[in-house]
Amino acid sequence: MTDHAHALVEGRCKKSNDDLCGEIFWPLRGEVAFWFMPELPEVETTKRGISPHVIGNKVTEVIVHRSDLRLPVPDSIVEIEGYRFIDVKRRSKYLILEVEQAQHLIIHLGMSGSLRVVDPDAPFRKHDHLALTLSTGRQMRYHDPRRFGLVLHGSGGDAMEHPLFQELGPEPLEDAFSANLLIRVLQGVKRPIKTVLMDAKVVVGVGNIYASESLFQAGIRPMTAACDLSRKRVGKLVKAVKEVLAHSIEQGGTTLRDFVRENGEPGYFRQELFVYERAGQPCRICGTSIEKLLQAQRSSYFCPKCQRDWC
Ligand SMILES: [Zn+2]
Repeated sequence: MTDHAHALVEGRCKKSNDDLCGEIFWPLRGEVAFWFMPELPEVETTKRGISPHVIGNKVTEVIVHRSDLRLPVPDSIVEIEGYRFIDVKRRSKYLILEVEQAQHLIIHLGMSGSLRVVDPDAPFRKHDHLALTLSTGRQMRYHDPRRFGLVLHGSGGDAMEHPLFQELGPEPLEDAFSANLLIRVLQGVKRPIKTVLMDAKVVVGVGNIYASESLFQAGIRPMTAACDLSRKRVGKLVKAVKEVLAHSIEQGGTTLRDFVRENGEPGYFRQELFVYERAGQPCRICGTSIEKLLQAQRSSYFCPKCQRDWC
């Protein structure tokens, strides 16, 4: 184990919970930083943040500062030099940047990745992996301290046809994710509803935080067998998932200017949560103590009064 990886493990033990967020501490360097895993709202916020800076603009230079991500940044990425970005899309937690000549980049932010648009003269930070200089005179940089992110380059095909996207369920904010669909999916399914909600084949992008918060809003305990939910309750759950994610994206949108601030951190924020990581604290609605339990190696949080399992 490298010193760095060791330090991160120590960081996890020291402070953060089972989830991929919290305060980390690098004992060797004496630094403390706050980080959390980008979820769908952060990826959508990133998409909206970078879009005006890249769409219609040419990549004048590709600088691979360090290629050691989950998979190495491919050498072929330099082939986008001289071509314009046409569009930025999101599918689940992937960003798809379409480039002229039927090229594309697929970017996943992993556990700690972020994209920033900065002045090209700004000094590189240690974990800046990739820089794309744009014809606007700005530079977009991919930063990823934990290196679980991904930057892929493809050409000659539709990015959406990539094997990464073939098994994915509907987008939660699109009409395809409806009460009717979920009622059909849940028929005869005895697994706990929270586990089902976090299954990307059922619906993409509902991570632990958003599954916990949506179940709270819908009044459903996380361990309730999926098939036990009434049609009405499933309807409430679908509405809650959409509202919780949309609200989070809306809040993230207020920090978009960070994308152009040279030393700014990414436009993520920690929204006010009702149950997630609030074990032992009073419910914001009824004052009952929030409870925590382990489900499929992930922590679940719920209010025993506001959430029920006979719905
Ligand atoms: Zn409550």
